[in-house]
Parts: sequence; structure tokens; C-alpha cells
Amino acid sequence: MKSFQELGVSKSILKALDEIGFEHPTPIQEKAIPAIKSGKDVLGIAQTGTGKTAAYLMPIFGKLVKAEGEDPRAIILVPTRELSIQVGEDMNELLTYSNLRSAAVFGGVGWTKHAELIAPGVDVLVATPGRLWDLYKAGALSLKKVRTLVIDEADRMLDMGFMPQIRKFLEVLPVKRQNLLFSATFPTKVEEMSHEFLDFPQRVEVAPSATPAEKVAQYYYPVQNYRTKLNLISHLLQDSETFKRVIVFCRTKEIAEGVYKVIKRKSEGEVRVLHSNKGQSSRINAINAFKEGEVRVLISTDVSARGIDVSQISHVINFEMPSSYEDYVHRIGRTARANEKGTAISFIGEDEIFHKERIEELMRCEIEALDIPEAVEVIPISKKERLAQLREIDRQKRESDPDFKGAFHEKKKHQPRKHPTAFNPKSSKLRGGRKKGVNKRR
Ligand code: AMP
Repeated sequence: MKSFQELGVSKSILKALDEIGFEHPTPIQEKAIPAIKSGKDVLGIAQTGTGKTAAYLMPIFGKLVKAEGEDPRAIILVPTRELSIQVGEDMNELLTYSNLRSAAVFGGVGWTKHAELIAPGVDVLVATPGRLWDLYKAGALSLKKVRTLVIDEADRMLDMGFMPQIRKFLEVLPVKRQNLLFSATFPTKVEEMSHEFLDFPQRVEVAPSATPAEKVAQYYYPVQNYRTKLNLISHLLQDSETFKRVIVFCRTKEIAEGVYKVIKRKSEGEVRVLHSNKGQSSRINAINAFKEGEVRVLISTDVSARGIDVSQISHVINFEMPSSYEDYVHRIGRTARANEKGTAISFIGEDEIFHKERIEELMRCEIEALDIPEAVEVIPISKKERLAQLREIDRQKRESDPDFKGAFHEKKKHQPRKHPTAFNPKSSKLRGGRKKGVNKRR
């Protein structure tokens, strides 16, 4: 495996990478960086989660070297506002020690705001096609200096009907430029688009990093609070025929301990808990016993579960949604290994619906809702829990919409709830948002 240095990543970026904590290039980075540096057009087949954004950003930054002029020299077209914000954030981080100027623009906000944003000058611009066209038509930017054009998530771009708009850009952009096309899949229509858009491209491809969603059946239960979650998990685990070998994921060691105590008391078979407070040998023992089949249920935090390679796990239960979407993929990838089938079940509170929707977008699949079995006692949500949920929902809305002023307070004012009731997950209006917010780096 090559290092970032060996791939010729510039010094200022290396310093930022060090700070972010990216130690080694991902496979797509290892393949795409040299291809892009060579100046050829590149066709990249890589899913979200493979590190493809940094794979094209790093060589682009290397080519641009330093801030110059006012108009963008590299344009990245993305299908959605969320992706634009996400790529914008990735650029900011990578450019911490560079004077290159980056900006992210997207629809849904007045274009004049974006015109002001880029007025002082920008070297790399990420944009949704409609917004870039607004700015171009209004004369807020010139495209004459563009030497690199990236089309990211080309398959989604086509699905969303952006092709006519992209064609308009191809007419106004300088002919002499490098084109990079990234797509998660390579159906015929993307292939056709690539012929229109790329000249003798070099194809780079990595195997999808996510467990193929088809192999893992994914479900969720809408569960309002911690105590109901405990009742539900105890109920499910009573069925040891179905739930043969189960790993339960919790976000914190405190929750993991709490779940452990209840399950140990109420369910059959050996149960162990793994988290960072457990000594190394006790962790290894637990994993080995789980592997051997001596332990039926293993409860773990995300960090402790890294590297557990155990086959024949029948179920992954997410007691809570993880704090990073990669962790979700990682968690469900514990089951359905090596062509086996597996089931992932998530317990989702109203404040976790936001994350579920982001995950569905990322994995391009739907997680099916199940009704809580009648035998499970549903504990009414306490005022304190409901308040914490509303605060979290408020935070999520603010995160996905910088103009959002705080519905939580409005809600309290206009519709006081004396008896918080169960929620209907299908009525959730939480759309939009960005992956990064909950995508903490370790
Ligand atoms: P992407 O495929 O661009 O959506 O990236 C998926 C995730 O991988 C992002 O959260 C990045 O921060 C992370 N990532 C990108 N490159 C690396 C790397 N070399 N090492 C570790 N994580 C990375």
C-alpha cells in the first residue's frame, strides 16, 4: 500500500490529513490519485463511503497549487444540496493549511447570498447544477478559467434528470479541460454519458465497501424510549431459535452495561459485554467465546466491535443508531458475511429518524418498519425524555437548514403537549441534512 506522500499529495494537504487522522489512502484514493495527476480523463466507479471525495479533491488541490485570480478553476457538480455541503466541508478540512479558496453552493437559498460568497474569489467550487447555472446566468462568475470538471454521483445526476443542464455547461466550459466522472454504479446510461463527456478515460474502480444491502434484511422498530427498548430487546431475545447469534450495538459503554444487566437477567444463554472499560484480555475472551458459539449475545460499543470477524451472526441489533453512518454499514456488515444471510434490526426513537433517513439515502435502500409485538410493554415517554428528543430534533433541523430558527421553541409555544404520545415514523418531515454532522472521526 502506498502512502499519501508516495502518491505525491502536497505538503499542506499532508498536514491536514495528519490532523484529520487519515493514515493511509483508501483503495480508490490509491488508484484515482495517480490517474487524475496524469492529466487524463478519469471514470471512477466508487460508492459513497469509499473515500472517493478526497480521492478527487487531493489531486485537484495539487494541480491548483495556490489561490489565483477570482474565477473558479475547478468545478465539482453534485446532485444534491446535502452532498454540496458535505463536499464543501471536506474541502475546508483538507485546505486548512492551504490558501486555496473553496466554496459550496446549492439551491434552496437565494442565489445572491452565494454570489456574495464567491465574489472575493474562489479556486474550487462545488455546486448543484441549477445553482451554478443561476450564478453563471447572473454573471456572478465566469467559467472561462475552469480546467477541471468533476461530475460526482453521475448515476444519481442522471436519475434526477440533470443531463440537459450538464449539456448546457459543456457548451460554455473551455474545451481544454480534464473531466472526472464518479458514479456508484455503472449502468448503460452512465456509460453513454461517459462517452459524451470523457475522452479516452482511465477507469478506476473499487469493490463496494458496503455490505451489499440485498444480503442483509434491514428492519426497524419505532421505539420511543430507553425502557421500551429494553422491554423489546428482552422480548426478542427470548426466541433463541431465531436469534441464534446476536450482536447488540449501543452508542456508549453506560448504555451497553445497562442493556447487558437486563438481558443477562432475562434471556437464555451466555451474554457478554464489550466496551473500552473492559480489560484487553476480557475483551478477547468475550470475542473468542462468541466465535466459538459459547456466547449467544454480545453487547458492544462501536469502537470495541471493530475488527470482530465472526461468521454466522444471525442478527445485528442496533439498540441505538450509531454516531456515524459508516458505523451503521460496519455494524450491519457483521452479519451476512461470506454469502450467508443475516438480519439487522434497529430500534429507532423519533429523534433517530433523521439518521435513518440519511442512512437510507446513503445505502439507497429502505429500512422496513415493523410493529412492536403486542407482548412488549410500551412505557410512556417521560417529560424529560421527550424534551431531550425535541431538542435533538431541533438540532438536526438546524444542522440541515442553517436558516432554521428553532422549531422546538415554536412547538412548545404553539402546541403544548401534555401527554406525549407515540409517534408515526412515516410522518417524519425530517429531510435534508448532512452526513458530517453525525459522522465523527475517530
Ligand atoms: P466518501 O466516500 O468521500 O463519502 O468518504 C467516506 C468517508 O471516509 C468520509 O467520512 C471520509 O472522511 C472518510 N475518509 C476518506 N478518506 C479516508 C482515509 N484515507 N482514511 C480514513 N477515512 C477516510
